Amino acid sequence: MINKYQIDLETHRKPLIAILKAIIAAPGKPSQKEMNNLLRWNPRPDGGMYSHAHLIDAYRVLAGTTELPPFNEEIIERLRRKPVRTSSGVTPVTVLTKPFPCPGTCIFCPNDVRMPKSYLSDEPGAQRAEQNSFDPYLQTYTRLLSLHNTGHPTDKIEMIVLGGTWSFYPETYQIWFIKRIFDALHDFGQNGKRNVHDRRLEVEAALLGTSQLHPERNLTNVTLHGADLEQSYNQAVQSVYKDEMYRSREMVEEIANGSRTRSPIDEYATWDELEAAHKF
Ligand code: SF4
Repeated sequence: MINKYQIDLETHRKPLIAILKAIIAAPGKPSQKEMNNLLRWNPRPDGGMYSHAHLIDAYRVLAGTTELPPFNEEIIERLRRKPVRTSSGVTPVTVLTKPFPCPGTCIFCPNDVRMPKSYLSDEPGAQRAEQNSFDPYLQTYTRLLSLHNTGHPTDKIEMIVLGGTWSFYPETYQIWFIKRIFDALHDFGQNGKRNVHDRRLEVEAALLGTSQLHPERNLTNVTLHGADLEQSYNQAVQSVYKDEMYRSREMVEEIANGSRTRSPIDEYATWDELEAAHKF
């Protein structure tokens, strides 16, 4: 799958090489003004400007070819737009579980039915989760790719799982969720330069056909306001996302007793499968 940060390097080779050569020859990281000048002097064939992510992707592919010296991490640092958001070389990746009831009765906890309990849909991390149907594989893979494409290290990751009360999700959901994070980490780690093990299309297609949480099917627009509260978050989420509750409860029972075949988005995995994914 070609992502939005990648471009056809043959069509764009000449201006990209010119920009990269200038950056490599510079005595240090160019200022934003110097970078903008460089991009303006070497426009795209359609007249637009290349993004930092395009330059990073091109550098990773073209470094060490006849036109550029061998790959050097220092050049990625020069091309990166924002400083590294990592601590001790470990990059945090945050994922959210899906909207689901919570047994808590904490009165100040937000009630955004589009989100797992206590999260608000206007937060960037929550929006990323929603765009990825709250699927653990899609969220993890897409975030890693985005970090990689903008020049951030992805070889050491700290996974942060947010959302409601973890222990109240079915155990099968918990095991499956973590296993699918491992699957995404492994697939991404094996990718090399051009996304050979990217299974997001397969997951996307399954979600579009089955999940209420796919952005094209998720038409929920329910906000519960304190004074007008006619139903609790738990009541609303179970009524709005009836099919999702079924997927987490009855459907996994059917999978467990063998009466239903399983797809990667079905919220069922065993401890053995999780252990195997962990040891991979
Ligand atoms: S998520 Fe549940 S337990 Fe946590 S603060 Fe909100 S209501 Fe309380």
